[in-house]
Amino acid sequence: MIIDGRAVAAQIRAELLSRTARFFENTGRRPTLAVVLIGDDPASAIYVRNKFKACAEAGIDSFDVRLPATVSTEEAEEEVRRLADKGTVDGILVQLPLPKHLDAERILAAIPTEKDVDGFSAQNIGALALGKRGTVACTPLGVMELLKRYNIGTCGKYAVVVGRSNIVGKPMALLLLNADATVTVCHSRTQNLKEECLKADILVAAAGRAGLITADMVKEGATVIDVGMNRAEGKLCGDVDFENVAKKAAFITPVPGGVGPMTVAMLLVNVCNAAEMRLK
Ligand code: NAD
Repeated sequence: MIIDGRAVAAQIRAELLSRTARFFENTGRRPTLAVVLIGDDPASAIYVRNKFKACAEAGIDSFDVRLPATVSTEEAEEEVRRLADKGTVDGILVQLPLPKHLDAERILAAIPTEKDVDGFSAQNIGALALGKRGTVACTPLGVMELLKRYNIGTCGKYAVVVGRSNIVGKPMALLLLNADATVTVCHSRTQNLKEECLKADILVAAAGRAGLITADMVKEGATVIDVGMNRAEGKLCGDVDFENVAKKAAFITPVPGGVGPMTVAMLLVNVCNAAEMRLK
């Protein structure tokens, strides 16, 4: 079965409409996302536009603060702090990647935990590691939501995550662990990737390498989630050889139309959660 991330994301946006309407009734304003966009990376501009379109469809207000590529780390931090102090801003995100000369860690650290809708802060990652309530990074959260909505159980299942980045692989592994899966994390130095992947009931590919996961690495009947977003021969593709792996997998996400739309949908959920929490 092909997991339809676009359809689930649309459903989530529709579900959020009643929450954002209720928030409006209570406060006279809508949950609000502020995006800091630095420089003129065309891909980032497209991502931000997509996020704003999705916000509008869910009844969330959004705006961007554009800074030139020449901005200093201090100036960018200052801008984030200004948004942090604004009572009408519920969520702040700094669109990555940043121009090379900037200290991304310092700029991100200026976002207060309760407005960190990307879930990248040390406090939010710490909460996840401790199994406590916090804001979780949108992409791995979107993967968990897909598993839930397709009734794919995780308890006692063997899960393999390929990739150990702070924004995808690590939080993904923690979420699966918190959901009672037995989790293995593989990465670029893993010696026996194929053997590890073959054990997986749930295989999450988040390496950013086109064609890394081939059919001979996948167990019959496994669930395969492809987080990868790569360009090969001008086309967007994941980390999984979809055509051949689909013949063995019970469930599989396509690229595009799988995890990508869910990342944006979960950002909207995080903004709504942040707005409601601040109201409380
Ligand atoms: P990253 O480059 O920070 O991390 C990649 C990870 O994969 C590293 O931990 C590395 O050790 C591992 N890796 C690389 N080559 C490998 C190999 N040959 N075998 C095993 N492991 C290997 O990337 P990231 O930010 O975690 O993103 C991963 C992929 O997911 C990228 O393609 C990115 O574009 C995509 N992504 C998609 C979404 C989405 O919404 N769909 C969101 C975020 C990232």
